[in-house]
Amino acid sequence: MELLDWKNLPFGYVKTDYNIRSVYKDGMWGKPEISSSEYIDIHMAATGLHYGQEAFEGLKAYMGKDGKIRLFRWQENAKRMMSSAEGIKMAVVPEEMFRDAIFKVIGMNRKFVPPYGSGASLYIRPLLFGSGAEVGVKPSHEYTFLVFVTPVGPYFKEGIKPVNMLICRDYDRAAPLGTGVFKVGGNYAASMRAVIAARNGGYASTIFLDAKEKRYIDECGPANFFGIKDNTYITPKSESILNSITNMSLIEIAQDMGMKTERRQVPVEELATFVETGACGTAAVISPIAKIVDPDKNMIYKYCKDGQPGKDSMKLYNKLVAIQCGDESDTHGWITIVE
Ligand SMILES: *Cc1c(COP(=O)(O)O)cnc(C)c1O
Repeated sequence: MELLDWKNLPFGYVKTDYNIRSVYKDGMWGKPEISSSEYIDIHMAATGLHYGQEAFEGLKAYMGKDGKIRLFRWQENAKRMMSSAEGIKMAVVPEEMFRDAIFKVIGMNRKFVPPYGSGASLYIRPLLFGSGAEVGVKPSHEYTFLVFVTPVGPYFKEGIKPVNMLICRDYDRAAPLGTGVFKVGGNYAASMRAVIAARNGGYASTIFLDAKEKRYIDECGPANFFGIKDNTYITPKSESILNSITNMSLIEIAQDMGMKTERRQVPVEELATFVETGACGTAAVISPIAKIVDPDKNMIYKYCKDGQPGKDSMKLYNKLVAIQCGDESDTHGWITIVE
């Protein structure tokens, strides 16, 4: 009998056997501990609870045809978590400690890595937060680093389906000199009103504009935005967006495929000139966009003829997923095998 119904796994939380935790105290990280509890004991005055000292990461491991488990560019997640920690004045998790923790947890939960060809993968969630008690506003003297894993189904169960997006001018996610460039929970809290308003209107998510001028595209909910025209992959440059590792990789793959690439400000009106648009991130890899509605300007931008994803988006998607699963050779050195 199979452990789980891999083909029908939701994109949600499923309990696994083990997680790993480590506590930073008196200026140093303690020995990582394996736990089989889904709960953590947390001080009621922890800064992570009161003042949002919390950062996280998300990455996926795939089972290959050869039975090997592959991790995609984990070093980038390690670096980004270090940057997020510094960004909100938390203790930094060194790269080796991050690596040891994720590889250990994946290895111990090996049976939860979905089989090759199921479309599902093992999602890895590293988490770092201030766990020491403070009442005044100051960085904690104690931190907890935790990694859990959970098998997740394919984001799009019935094949890739283009989504609709709503342009949001009523709420901002992050300011140019704020914390938008860090992967911290506070940015997600700040985005909830806009995301829920969009969902209530029947949209997949919201497109945030730059908070200062409201002229340029920032992010697509919790994902980066890209547009394609004239054989060019274009993605926003901004001081308030999270640098997506998926996006960085798509840029390189686009170049490999002979496309030009640009990272620059993308004015809202430019939406009218793109042939394809999409959102990208670890969860869905690429969500092609069928329609973007800008109610304040009375504009509707349409892509995806007959409801089908555009051909360049699909080419990029297929190539990246093939590298992640090990079906295509890893010419960039992005893959690490989990022994
Ligand atoms: C995590 C995240 C992304 C996607 O980044 P990936 O590294 O591709 O998973 C994009 N935007 C925001 C706000 C995020 O938090």
